[in-house]
Amino acid sequence: MHISYSTEPAPVPGRRNEDFVVSGPDWVAVLDGATAPAGVDSGCIHDVPWLVGQLGAALCRQLATRPAAGLPDVLAAAIRGVVAAHEDTCDLSNVDSPSSTVAIVRRRESMVDYLVLCDSPVALVGTDGTLTVVDDDRTDHLPGGRPYPLALVQSLRNRAGGFWVASTNPDAAYEALSGSVDAASVTGVLLATDGVTRLVEWFGHTWEQLVDTAASTGPAELIEQVRTAELAGDTPNGAKRHDDATAAWVRW
Ligand SMILES: [Zn+2]
Repeated sequence: MHISYSTEPAPVPGRRNEDFVVSGPDWVAVLDGATAPAGVDSGCIHDVPWLVGQLGAALCRQLATRPAAGLPDVLAAAIRGVVAAHEDTCDLSNVDSPSSTVAIVRRRESMVDYLVLCDSPVALVGTDGTLTVVDDDRTDHLPGGRPYPLALVQSLRNRAGGFWVASTNPDAAYEALSGSVDAASVTGVLLATDGVTRLVEWFGHTWEQLVDTAASTGPAELIEQVRTAELAGDTPNGAKRHDDATAAWVRW
């Protein structure tokens, strides 16, 4: 089992990384914390780096101590752990409470388990050369199209028919895309935040190119390519020119 990863904050002075990555001997988890809109009261005294650190640590504990538990159960328990860490200090009924995407890949004996919650996809490379991208794109399909009014996002967050993120509701774990495949059918897996997948979404790269780069040169090269593309290319209206970027590559 070989796991490598790279994570970088957006190259903006003073910027703290709101992505997070944590791995163990046979698993890796990638998180992308959501930034609350400017001027919105989240009801939480903590910031996004705190949230992803708490969630990453809770996932680490769960993955390290419950190797046979299903990944939705692992994530639900981790979310409950984060809730416990600030339910006495913060208003966790606030719909703008800090949140995060979650992508997890775990080798479990002869199987590979994956989980994707919100827009941090996982790409599985088959031994037959096929590529399977597990992409929870529910945030791309909210009513009315982008840009979404804040009230719409608030009303659809962690609601049936809307989209799901890791925040204050453990039930979100059971809305994630998750599954298991035979490890013998997969040669490698790429996990990435949307700060990296913008290479595909905006800058004309293919998933095949991303996976080839991760396999041949490593995840850090993907982030180099993102920064180059961000400086040379056009970002869509209203989008950040730079974003925090994380990629993890797993092979065996
Ligand atoms: Zn809090």
